[in-house]
Formats: sequence, C-alpha cells, structure tokens
Amino acid sequence: MSERNLIVIALGGNALLQRGQKGTFQEQYENTKITAKKIADLIERGYKVVITHGNGPQVGATLLRHDAGQKVYGVPAFPMDVAGAETQGFIGYMIQQALRNELKSRKIDKYVVTIVTRTIVDENDPAFKNPTKPVGPFYKKEDVDELKKQFPDWVFKEDSGRGWRRVVPSPDPKLIAERYAIKTLVDYGFVVVASGGGGIPIVEKDGVATGVEAVIDKDLAGQRLATLVGASKFVIATDVDGAYLNYGTPNQKKLDRVSVEEMKRYYAEGHFKEGSMGPKVLAAIRFVEAGGETSTIGHLYDLIELVEGKKGTTVYSSTG
Ligand code: ADP
Ligand code: MG
Repeated sequence: MSERNLIVIALGGNALLQRGQKGTFQEQYENTKITAKKIADLIERGYKVVITHGNGPQVGATLLRHDAGQKVYGVPAFPMDVAGAETQGFIGYMIQQALRNELKSRKIDKYVVTIVTRTIVDENDPAFKNPTKPVGPFYKKEDVDELKKQFPDWVFKEDSGRGWRRVVPSPDPKLIAERYAIKTLVDYGFVVVASGGGGIPIVEKDGVATGVEAVIDKDLAGQRLATLVGASKFVIATDVDGAYLNYGTPNQKKLDRVSVEEMKRYYAEGHFKEGSMGPKVLAAIRFVEAGGETSTIGHLYDLIELVEGKKGTTVYSSTG
C-alpha cells in the first residue's frame, strides 16, 4: 500500500553543484541550502519527504583525494565502496544541516537524519562482465601500466582523447540492506536521507556481505527506496524540464503525462540516453509497475509543481 503525501525525491547533480563550479565545500553547501528551501516548502505543505541524491562529481573528487594522498603523503587510498560511504556521509551532513536550519527557522518540528545505505546487487549481474562507468582520475598510459600491476582486476578505457580512466560496473540495485531502519525512521516522522549515490554496492555470499568496486545508478536505487517506503509519488529532480522524445533534434517533443505502457514503448525505442535520462525513465516505469501512483521527472527549480504533477513528465498507471 502506498501512503498518500509520502514522496521520495531523487536529487540530481545540480542540487549540490552547478555547472562550471569548482566544487568547494562552500559552493556545495550554498546549493544545498537552496535545495533545502524547496524541500522545506513541501514539508510545510504537509508532505512527508524521503530524500536520495547523486554523488558522481563528489565520489570522483574523493577518489582523487585518495589518489593524491597516497602519492604525496603515502596515506593509503581506500576502495570505491568506502569512497561511496564517505560521500554519503558528507552530503548527508550538508542536507541535515541546511534542511534542519530551514525547518527550524519556519518553526517546523521535524528532524533530518542520514542513513549510510548499502544496496545489495547480484554477483552474477551481467554488468560485472562489462564495466562501463568511468570513475576517478584521468591517467597517462604509463600510470595505467603501473596500476595494472598493482590492481590486475582494474579495467581502463581511453576517454575521448582526455586520458585513461578506470571504468567500473554499474549493476542493477536489488534490495536496500538498511530497509528496516529506513522504514522505521520514516514511520516515526523523520525526514530520511538514504541510498545516496545509489547506495554502497554489496554482494552477499554465504550470509556475508562484502563491498564491491562498482557504482549504482541513483535513480534506479531511488526507485527501490520509493517502493520500499510505500511512497505514493517518486519525483526525479534534475536539470531538464522533462523527458523528451527525439531529444536534441529539431523535432524534439517534451512528454507531459504518459501511461506506463506508452513510456515502455518510448524507452524501448531508445529515446532516453543511457546513463542520464534512460535510468530516470526506467526508474519511473518500475515505480509505477511496482504499485506506486505516479513518478515525475523534471527540473529541480519546479519541485513543488513536479510533486503536484503540474510540470515535468509524469508516468502513471493506466490500470490502477
Ligand atoms: P542528474 O545529475 O540529474 O542525474 P543527468 O545528467 O544524469 O542528471 O540526466 C539529465 C540529462 O539527461 C539532461 O541534462 C539531458 O541533457 C539528458 N538527456 C538525455 N536524453 C534526454 C531526453 N530524452 N530527454 C531529456 N533529457 C535527456
Ligand atoms: Mg544522472
């Protein structure tokens, strides 16, 4: 059963960092404050909110810091799953601070908490055989040969003339490991931040969980979160005002309200780019197919209108 007024919001990269910014903490915190005001507006209107967010630029920077720390100071670099946990922590902190300050200033008696979230993936996921997602620093060819000796499992790809980058798998999220904790906190009225960066990918074998070197798409993981908490609406906030057909061509067309069947057809026709709009549309489809009421994709600036279904692209079930 989905709970009316319970919404899950997936924040895209622009909620934390604007194009062209360097990524100082101050910049990210200022952006987070703007995002927090939008979310507070929703809470003030009586919505219960669960938040998830991306971490692409942040985890990239964290990996660079580890890399530099190791080279310059001999401080051992940490693996990717740990870098994912680090970014969940600092981004969660920014949201907790900014949103709680905002709520407090409006005299709203609600508290914000972040859950370091692990996402279970299938060790037999085909993505593990085909790593595609570039992460971390750009390397020179010599560095790559050296790293290959140190980490024989790492896969590198040349990135359009800019240098070599490590690529990692992007497996499908199956289940959120922290599901009981998240559900309990939501039920008790906390504003929960969870599944940041798609969650820390883990595999379970013989009852033992281990972190893996991979990244999970935050929108696909956000759908698992939204379905788990029983949200009526899953809102995917990004830097474009909706999902388009023939995007980037003279005859591009923005979609407004689309049934899940129709959206599946467009998805299969390849209108939505892999790694950006593709997973958002797939996440919206999955959410509605799993029993959610609607899922809306659109611009972060229009957050309230997205929640009210007045802007963006909304996927709905034609059977429910
Ligand atoms: P986020 O950080 O919010 O996840 P992404 O860059 O991953 O942002 O996804 C949003 C981007 O998807 C847009 O900026 C747009 O350029 C791109 N995009 C690709 N295909 C489409 C499409 N069919 N309709 C709209 N946007 C699209
Ligand atoms: Mg994205």
